[in-house]
Amino acid sequence: MWTCAKCGDESENSFDACWKCSTPRDEIISDAQPPISKPPRRRMTFQIFRGTWAPWEQLLEEAAFFATEIGPERVVIISHSADRSDGVVTVWYWTTANDTHP
Ligand SMILES: [Zn+2]
Repeated sequence: MWTCAKCGDESENSFDACWKCSTPRDEIISDAQPPISKPPRRRMTFQIFRGTWAPWEQLLEEAAFFATEIGPERVVIISHSADRSDGVVTVWYWTTANDTHP
């Protein structure tokens, strides 16, 4: 099926012009057309801030600075946990496939 650009009616592929208004098929937008451009592929990655002796404030400060640098539209979430005596702050964010890990 293809859709007439003029009247919006659908015609069978065997017709070269709209059955309704006779607009040639060349002027229509075929739904078989490939997408114009693919958006860049994104993948999720993370940056870990941890330290045995660093106070929480410092780790969170570093994570906050990093998140500010990459921008709010890329940050997914910032999580934190304790691994034995280590404080661990993780910034999860979106990156494009071509990006190198900062
Ligand atoms: Zn038509």
